[in-house]
Amino acid sequence: MRVGFIGLGNMGAGMAANQAKAGREVIAFDLSQAALDRAAAQGCRPAGSAAEAVSGADLVLTMLPAGKHVREVVGESVLPHVGPGTLVIDCSTIDVDSARDVARQCQAKGVRFADAPVSGGIAAADAGTLTFMVGCPETVFEAVEAALTPMAKAVVHAGEAGAGQAAKICNNMVLGASMLAVCEGFALAEKLGLKPERFFEIASQSSGQCWSLTSYCPWPGVGPTTPADRGYEGGFLTALMLKDLKLAQEAAARAGAATPMGAQAEALYALFDRLGYGQKDFSAMLQLFRGELAGLAAKP
Ligand code: NAD
Repeated sequence: MRVGFIGLGNMGAGMAANQAKAGREVIAFDLSQAALDRAAAQGCRPAGSAAEAVSGADLVLTMLPAGKHVREVVGESVLPHVGPGTLVIDCSTIDVDSARDVARQCQAKGVRFADAPVSGGIAAADAGTLTFMVGCPETVFEAVEAALTPMAKAVVHAGEAGAGQAAKICNNMVLGASMLAVCEGFALAEKLGLKPERFFEIASQSSGQCWSLTSYCPWPGVGPTTPADRGYEGGFLTALMLKDLKLAQEAAARAGAATPMGAQAEALYALFDRLGYGQKDFSAMLQLFRGELAGLAAKP
């Protein structure tokens, strides 16, 4: 199988390498020469343009920053250079409307399209253990699953075009808000003289239990090892959580949905980002609630 891969950044680099490791011929393109050199070292063939990367490809994969990049790359560089029946899968996290527009453009040219954003960060991209949430017609899903398998722990069909992006932003809105609630709980527990490890032990067996508490505890030294135990380095960056919450709020405004918790979460992560903590794991919000930002190095 011949794969055209566009967008070899933090996530795309490992994903393209895993396609090559699976024995597929990967022709890769990125605007960055350093990214192209890294892809070449990992078994991909670098192309001089996106159009060159996708010409003659059976499968096109994109992993780009935002909706405008996906619209531009698919509209201007992919669709004019692929034939009917080609499978195009966008794995970026983008707005639902862009995903649906691109799906319509592809359908008009007889090209099969799926939006397939991922859960899992750079480590999962490198290890080939991402979870993909897929929006595409039922009839296309089997081919999408086979295409994504070398990069995946799980591939889940969310529904029709745009449903993958919808699943991703709804999940991350729940995550963003639940982490804030857990951080607030720990900060109040501390003020009330409750030891954090006691609060963890009790809440993780009570009705406050949730993933943000038991699997990703924001308090250092409590529960399983998390980014809190390495100064909130790595993990899921505040800036990326903020991006996803903005997408959720834009989608909610257009759909007329009431999402006041999501709106509050967006405002709080935006504040944290403005204070210079965008490159810290999102669970570092705990230190804002505790009034302990002095120990956390900001990067303005
Ligand atoms: P990144 O900025 O590291 O990579 C994006 C790459 O796209 C860059 O190398 C850039 O040069 C390239 N690019 C931009 N425009 C291009 C164009 N017109 N043609 C060719 N290449 C172009 O971003 P990332 O961290 O790899 O994230 C990619 C996507 O995955 C984003 O939508 C992000 O929200 C999503 N995501 C990221 C993570 C994460 O932990 N980093 C986790 C889940 C989802």
